[in-house]
Amino acid sequence: MADISILTSRVAIMSALFLIKCLLVVPFVQGSRQKTVVNVAIFLQEDDDWVEITQVAIRSAVQLVKSRTSYSIQPHVYQFRGDKVYEAGEKVCDLITKGLAAIFGPESPEINELVQSLSSTLQIPQFQTIWNPRLSSLTADRSSPIFNLHPSAAALSKALATLVKDNDWKSYTIIYENDDGLLRLRESLNRRPADPAVTFRKLGPGPDYRPVLKQIKYSEDVHFILDCKAARILEVLRQAKEVNLLEDYHSYILTDLDAHTLDWTHFRNIRTNITAMRLLDPSSKALKSVTKAWKVNPPIIKTRTALLYDAFNVFVTSLADVEANNVTAAILRLDCDKRETAEHGAHLAEMARKYHDSRGILPGPLSGTISFDRQGQRQNFELQIIEYSKSEPSLFRLVGTWKSSNPNGVSYSVTSEEREKELQKEIQQKNFRVVSRLGAPYLMARVPEEGKIFYGNSRFEGYSMDIMQEICNVLNCSFTFELVPDGKYGNFDPVKKEWNGLIGHLLERKADLAICDLTITYERRRAVDFTMPFMTLGISVLYARAVKEPPELLSFSHPLSLDVWLYMATAYLVVSMIIFLVARINPNDWENPHPCDPRPTELENIWTIRNCFWLTLGSIMQQGCDLLPKGISTRMAAAMWWFFSLIMTASYTANMAAFLTMERMGPTIERAEDLAGQTKIKYGCLAGGSTCSFFKDTNFSTYHQMWIQMESADPTVFERSNADGVKRVLSSKRTYAFLMESATIEYEIERQCDLMQVGGPIDSKGYGIAMTTNFQYRKSFNEAILKMQEMGTLHRLKEKWWKEMNGGGQCAEDKQSSDEAATELGLDNVGGIFVVLAVGVAIALLFAVCEFLWNVKKVAVREHISLRESLKRELRFAFNIWDRQKRLGRRSSHLPSEEKREEIK
Ligand code: ASP
Repeated sequence: MADISILTSRVAIMSALFLIKCLLVVPFVQGSRQKTVVNVAIFLQEDDDWVEITQVAIRSAVQLVKSRTSYSIQPHVYQFRGDKVYEAGEKVCDLITKGLAAIFGPESPEINELVQSLSSTLQIPQFQTIWNPRLSSLTADRSSPIFNLHPSAAALSKALATLVKDNDWKSYTIIYENDDGLLRLRESLNRRPADPAVTFRKLGPGPDYRPVLKQIKYSEDVHFILDCKAARILEVLRQAKEVNLLEDYHSYILTDLDAHTLDWTHFRNIRTNITAMRLLDPSSKALKSVTKAWKVNPPIIKTRTALLYDAFNVFVTSLADVEANNVTAAILRLDCDKRETAEHGAHLAEMARKYHDSRGILPGPLSGTISFDRQGQRQNFELQIIEYSKSEPSLFRLVGTWKSSNPNGVSYSVTSEEREKELQKEIQQKNFRVVSRLGAPYLMARVPEEGKIFYGNSRFEGYSMDIMQEICNVLNCSFTFELVPDGKYGNFDPVKKEWNGLIGHLLERKADLAICDLTITYERRRAVDFTMPFMTLGISVLYARAVKEPPELLSFSHPLSLDVWLYMATAYLVVSMIIFLVARINPNDWENPHPCDPRPTELENIWTIRNCFWLTLGSIMQQGCDLLPKGISTRMAAAMWWFFSLIMTASYTANMAAFLTMERMGPTIERAEDLAGQTKIKYGCLAGGSTCSFFKDTNFSTYHQMWIQMESADPTVFERSNADGVKRVLSSKRTYAFLMESATIEYEIERQCDLMQVGGPIDSKGYGIAMTTNFQYRKSFNEAILKMQEMGTLHRLKEKWWKEMNGGGQCAEDKQSSDEAATELGLDNVGGIFVVLAVGVAIALLFAVCEFLWNVKKVAVREHISLRESLKRELRFAFNIWDRQKRLGRRSSHLPSEEKREEIK
């Protein structure tokens, strides 16, 4: 009995509950044929120009659902401003009391916050179509009824980071609209050391963004991520154009997924690189068919419209799935103030998580594959990477696809060959602004004939000009040369923190390229890009050749100093006298005058003063003498003299050779390093050039020591240009050497024959064409240079400007003749010896005349004839060269006298 009473009371309670429920629940079945009415709330943006199309989409979706399912969707569409949170809340709660199946939107983050919290508390499914940074924290660890169809911030910032990496940006600026933008781009903020440098600039409320844009322009960054709503993009870019931030070297990545839907006709002439991303594929069948059905022309819709439509699809499909699974999931009438939960919420959320495109009730999806992760965040989607087309202005073209399943790469649909072709086309339309500086033979001003004026490129000529011409012949481009105002190559000023010269000019974007004898250095390479080198060289020394002084007449005496000559003469006299004395006192030198007589009554000594002088003279002249001493002491004295003569003659000969070749041996320095160990020759280099920097920054002690010497030199050893350095070397009479690059030295010594290069290059580097970083045509330029190198064009140009033009090759003859001169001595070198010979012979003749006259007198006395007759007779005999025998007179005039005989013995 008790059981029965319990049972009846339970049935009573259940019947009562059923009755209450029936009153609170939206009637699912309104008659057997009637459709189930399902209330949904849709929040649209108030200032949305696309609201009409969105409403068309809603109506179309409602219609389709009605025709394909047993439901009749009752959409309650609201448009609120972001600050109308309270009103929006009231509306939602009002609907909830009538039984609300799902909420779509809203787009305002403030209203969304409220709706999201109601939805999660009451378990009413919400389908969000905006980027929502707080979704994951709210829905973590439980199966929430909130779903977001918009790609997550993490995914978007991953895609952006991949694009930045692929574009090889070394630094960039993120221009963001509001602080949410920073959250959206957090991947860029998660910086690793190797990542590019990022600067953040907030756009501000507008409508005038110029102050911020000017600051950005001043920062000299050229790569930007522009994070602002699609509606503001064109205005921001228009103002960017006004402050010259929309030049062809600027690159932008736009974060809004609707950038391609804007009207870009005002930007048809820009050549800036603009990259964007989109979720919708305009070529997809589903999108085409719905836009046709909705009569949207051109067939472009906003992402949020497509997402709303797709959300609808997910919702109705999940609803149908819930019913198909025979799950009782009534849509209850609830109260916002009570702690109740909707029954259908959890079931519907479960089905939505299992949603698959193939089951979709509506055609689609419009925004690509739809699936959700545990947090209800959309996953496994694709973004199309699009670029603002330069060939078809105001249109974007597809260049690749980024997949959330492979976030670190973009699969590009444009092949590198296609890109190459496009670049080539672009180059053909370009007129490159080339900056340079004057300096022979790289660039020289042409002197116009009288009455003529040169304009543009015809003002200049030179190697750089020819190289550019050849490159443009290969690439089919054109160029205009201009001179850098300060005439410098390019140095970083650490105080002003800026570059000067050609590099500064490039960085200020006043030119596209810089070409001259501009050395590729590490420091410059960090500021700008360079092509591959078109010439290789190294630092070497420019020095003046030894000037040929005409040799002196008595230059043969130079090998020995005057002192040595005097000492030698004294030694000659003294030794001759000593030999004379020693011979007199040495018995061995007293000889028998008649060797046949064994007992001579007297002895004789041949070592008269004259013979002694003759012996010493003969030996020092290396001729010897027919008289030789016999005594040990005389021999000893003579031997010592011979030894002395041997050494002296050998020294003289050796020194003579050195003296004669001295001027051909050139300077006393043979390598750059030799300069370091001396102070006689001053040396310097071009101020502010890479040569100076080499010595300044080197770790090699010798070169560093050279730098210290250069710096401390007074007057300064630095020159403003290479030409000034050359002039100083020429005028300094070998007291100044100029450290210069070997290519320019080669050029100078081809023309200035008094100059020479000392030693080989002390380093190795190259000249390249400088260009701004990430210069998109760099590869083409490199290829052109390589081609020119292989075809011998670079060599031909070098020969032309070094050896042929402007007096080139004139020192070749000079060099040859100086080489030849090295093998023979001129008359100047040996003239003095001829003079000595002539004087000697003249003196000998004089003596001969004296001796002759003396003999004439003696004959006259002896023969008792007159002097005249004697002279006549002797002359007649002397000049009769055929007469080989001389007759004596009555008393032989030619018999040797007593003294003479003695002397001969
Ligand atoms: N070619 C050098 C430069 O680019 C100039 C020099 O130092 O000779 O700076």
